Amino acid sequence: MSPEPALRFRGPVLPDGEPRDLYVVDGRVTWEVQPGADTVAEGWIVPGLVDAHCHLGLDDFGATDDAATEQQALDDRDGGALLIRDAGSAADTRWVQDRDDLPRLIRCGRHIAATRRYIRGYAHEVEPDELATYAAQEARNGDGWIKLVGDWISRDEGDLAPSFPAEAFAAAIDAAHAEGAKVTAHCFGHGVLPGLIEAGIDCIEHGTGLTEDLIDAMVAHGTRLVPTVMQLDKFPEHAAAGREKFPDYAATMTDLYARMPATVMAAHEAGVPIYAGSDGGGISRHGNIAGEVEALVRIGMPAFDALGAASWRAREWLGVDGLTEGASADFVVYDRNPVEDLSVLRTPRAIVLRGALVGPRA
Ligand SMILES: [Zn+2]
Repeated sequence: MSPEPALRFRGPVLPDGEPRDLYVVDGRVTWEVQPGADTVAEGWIVPGLVDAHCHLGLDDFGATDDAATEQQALDDRDGGALLIRDAGSAADTRWVQDRDDLPRLIRCGRHIAATRRYIRGYAHEVEPDELATYAAQEARNGDGWIKLVGDWISRDEGDLAPSFPAEAFAAAIDAAHAEGAKVTAHCFGHGVLPGLIEAGIDCIEHGTGLTEDLIDAMVAHGTRLVPTVMQLDKFPEHAAAGREKFPDYAATMTDLYARMPATVMAAHEAGVPIYAGSDGGGISRHGNIAGEVEALVRIGMPAFDALGAASWRAREWLGVDGLTEGASADFVVYDRNPVEDLSVLRTPRAIVLRGALVGPRA
């Protein structure tokens, strides 16, 4: 068999924006000139986008079948997301990792929540004394991450409340760390955050309850934040749905939402590393990481930072190469500079995954 011919892509390469010729040989990036290479596309070249919080194999009712999961992964890929950090799934999606045509996938295992304190069918629902055991189990099942549901509405209290006592969370974080896994948690409210951050949690999802002192603590601990702004935009709906039976909850959600842009931007400005997550699958559609980049810009993040949060900075955080010599050729080419015009993220000129041109699909 003759070797695959080299492919050439040319144009400014982000993040530095230097115009270059990027060659793909045997699925890998090389900057060495390959005589006779065909030019596949010209435009702005961006390291493969990252969706740092979505859910493959999950829909409104729990686990999906493999055909539906495959469609979700294809939708994500067609949106330019070539690396996914799955933030919890009720389905076993390991098989996705055997498919060269689907995005790279870092799984969290299944969410761990308190009994009857999360969306039905999503999580392992456990008692406080079982939390550490389940954390260790999911640490072994996942790809170096586990996902806890930090808080949820308590029907007894009529308001958002931590899912577990702080000591139980701390034991779970220790148990996951002992298995070599990082820990993240769904956190809407304030009360759950001090204990988690103090116990050394690695990342906070949503984080609407952050305050200035907690942001300082995150900086001190190196805690990361994935706000999922598009998901936070649903707070007014949650508040409206709960207003009659749970007025305190409705008031909390309304207040958190009013302060959300300032909260996320205060974390960004203090130096908390922020990454883009679409929350696709968690009641949101897949394939819309562009929407989250736009949402981050809408609340005040500079476009370069917002795109980095969904590309080169997130790749570095998750330990996946950017566009370096010999790296897997995972990138997207756009007709215009997305930093100057984010709308171009919705119409990629070329999507290259593991060196293969996989999009845009006709
Ligand atoms: Zn989610």
